[in-house]
Amino acid sequence: MKLSSFYVLLLLLMPIRGFSQQVPLQSFPLNAVRLHNSPFKQAQEIDLQYILALSPDRLLAPYLSEAGITPKAEWYGNWENTGLDGHIGGHYLSALSLMYAATGNQEVKQRLDYIIDQLAACQQKNGNGYLGGVPGGKDMWQEIAQGKIDAGTFSLNKKWVPLYNIHKIYAGLLDAYQFGANPKAKDMLVQLTDWCLNLTANLSEAQIQEILKSEHGGLNEVFADVAALTGDKKYLELARKFSHQAILNPLLAQKDALNGIHANTQIPKVIGFMRVAEVAGEQDWAKAADFFWHTVVQNRTVSIGGNSVREHFHPADNFSSMLESVEGPETCNTYNMLKLSKHLFQAKPTQQYIEYYERALYNHILSSQHPEKGGFVYFTPMRPQHYRVYSQPQESFWCCVGSGLENHGKYGELIYAHNTKDLYVNLFIPSELNWPEKGLTLTQETKFPFEEATALKLKLKKPQKFALQIRYPSWVKTRGLKVQVNQKDVIVKPDASGFVAVNRKWKTGDVVIVSLPMQTKVEQMPDKSSWVSFVHGPIVLAAITDTTNLKGLWADGSRMGHIASGPQYPIEEAPMLVSADKDLAAAVQPVADKPLTFRVANLLYPAKYKSLELVPFYQIHEARYMLYWPVTTPEKLENNRKAMRERETARLALEARTVDQVAPGEQQPESDHNFQGEKTESGVFNNRHWRHATGWFSYALKNPKKEARTLQITYFGGDKNRSFDIYVNNTLLRTVKLDGVQGDKFYEVDYQLPNEILNKAGSTNLTVKFIAHQNSTAGGIYYVRLLK
Ligand SMILES: [Zn+2]
Repeated sequence: MKLSSFYVLLLLLMPIRGFSQQVPLQSFPLNAVRLHNSPFKQAQEIDLQYILALSPDRLLAPYLSEAGITPKAEWYGNWENTGLDGHIGGHYLSALSLMYAATGNQEVKQRLDYIIDQLAACQQKNGNGYLGGVPGGKDMWQEIAQGKIDAGTFSLNKKWVPLYNIHKIYAGLLDAYQFGANPKAKDMLVQLTDWCLNLTANLSEAQIQEILKSEHGGLNEVFADVAALTGDKKYLELARKFSHQAILNPLLAQKDALNGIHANTQIPKVIGFMRVAEVAGEQDWAKAADFFWHTVVQNRTVSIGGNSVREHFHPADNFSSMLESVEGPETCNTYNMLKLSKHLFQAKPTQQYIEYYERALYNHILSSQHPEKGGFVYFTPMRPQHYRVYSQPQESFWCCVGSGLENHGKYGELIYAHNTKDLYVNLFIPSELNWPEKGLTLTQETKFPFEEATALKLKLKKPQKFALQIRYPSWVKTRGLKVQVNQKDVIVKPDASGFVAVNRKWKTGDVVIVSLPMQTKVEQMPDKSSWVSFVHGPIVLAAITDTTNLKGLWADGSRMGHIASGPQYPIEEAPMLVSADKDLAAAVQPVADKPLTFRVANLLYPAKYKSLELVPFYQIHEARYMLYWPVTTPEKLENNRKAMRERETARLALEARTVDQVAPGEQQPESDHNFQGEKTESGVFNNRHWRHATGWFSYALKNPKKEARTLQITYFGGDKNRSFDIYVNNTLLRTVKLDGVQGDKFYEVDYQLPNEILNKAGSTNLTVKFIAHQNSTAGGIYYVRLLK
């Protein structure tokens, strides 16, 4: 070979060499691990029942209809027939694939193959590679291809997050191929990716960035996956183009610009940055993803591993909304944070990632499924004495149902991992691992966390030398971890990554016992306010206070069914911890004969709460609970309660007067109130969301008992020279001129609703519309509230 042609060949090879770089640590395929009896196994079995209770034909209806094929069954309701049609179908493919890999269940496999065949027929009928359930999607995609783009945070060309929706089918096809052993799914995935390439072929980078203002799941991640699958660079280019610069750039600069933005819109983008980094070998993007993970986990996460309030990142130095709102951490966020943690752990196998993963797995993910009926939880309130509601298979089709269906089928994904020579034991979950390349079977037997030890039993085709890398968790008592091999003590010396290497020639019959004595800790809220959570080992403890007024415990198909809308018990009447001593953990006493049950009677105030018992939060269901506790000293007790009472009284009085409300610029509240508009934008200012328009925007507010008398609007005093009209049900309510005289603060204005509007038929729905005057702006509107 001539030297020059050698270099040409080398150049041709180079981009391919950079593909699918081996990360330092590999996870085992899901079908290499089988769960043994534990709450995780139970969750998997209940999830299987939930999955099988769903009708494939009903989930397929949006896809068939959009392809011009008559559906075989009626659409499901809820989010499945109000704009996000088909999103659960995509999740369902992933859930079936994961469940098949984890269990080998043949009914699941048949169902998966059936759905793929049906979807293949849809894709073929569409003729251009497209596959989706977005209602009226074909016309909308055509507009996009022509550069007609109207993107909001949760809308694209007036559709409800269509890119987010189709990301689910992309991910579903990938999972059907990778976990579900369906080769056809790979071809379909590549065709669907080619469709997107063609769709955006004539768009500028700036136009694509404009599209990406709209929530789009992890499209960049799946495009990078397709690049790795095919070895074709054009898909990696597409993944880069679909990486949202507005989020990436601050992270590249190691800057936390997350206040006020929709949390679960961002986490999948960051998984995508990490995936691009892996496939392209790009260190900067990996660092950006790692920075995001650190800032979210260290500064924005509560003890159960969840983040965000009403789906948004609140200021990291103020968690008061977390404690007040009934819309605490959303399960989807943690589903995605686990994915990100897994990527980072494999790239850099250190304790921190797996420690977070374990914490979130037990306390948020496992806890988010009803252990008998299998319903999924959307929001987990941190608010004292509130409760959670559960989905029902035929009624509820929220995002957290989609991610929930997947969550409980993949508990085996990271219990173990390996590099080229060593085996890692990351989690203490009873299970069996098969590693055919090594001829090894490892069985892990434990009742952890109800037992402070685990036993690892090895079977090998022939004796082999390697290191068993055992995780040394930080929650173990100081110098408490002990390892025995065949009943002989081994010297325990964790390395910098937090793992203990047990190096020897392993043979069948070897038994390793790991002792894991746990300690109880008290964790303060990340903003360092006087609120704490009790954690025993990796297990978050909480107390049931009562089971009263659990309104909507089993969610119906209504728009707000996922929110625990029962009465909010006053915060100042919640149990408090009162102590002059800073070391609260010392007051935690185990209860005799009740494993993992504790009391803190000496700390509790008022006295009626002294018998409360702390138990693992993941076991608490159908109840009101205390997870974060207010702390004070005996001297400060009275003042503290008074301040809380005043704040609460004002808040509850307003809530009691409220008939309906909407937070402009926040995704879910807006779409729940049929947001519509033209030439309108939203954003965040001083940690509050706003919307304004040079055109108009409107919300449909509910007034079911016709109790509304007043419309209350929140403005900011800095907005001036803005004039607009407020219409209610097409009748002019008021012409508003914002002149800025209020100064730099937020303020409320109450508008009385005239009888002329209230007495009309149809006033159980009040559509409030803000219309800008010519060359002016309507808003910013910071809050809209309908009052009695
Ligand atoms: Zn969700």
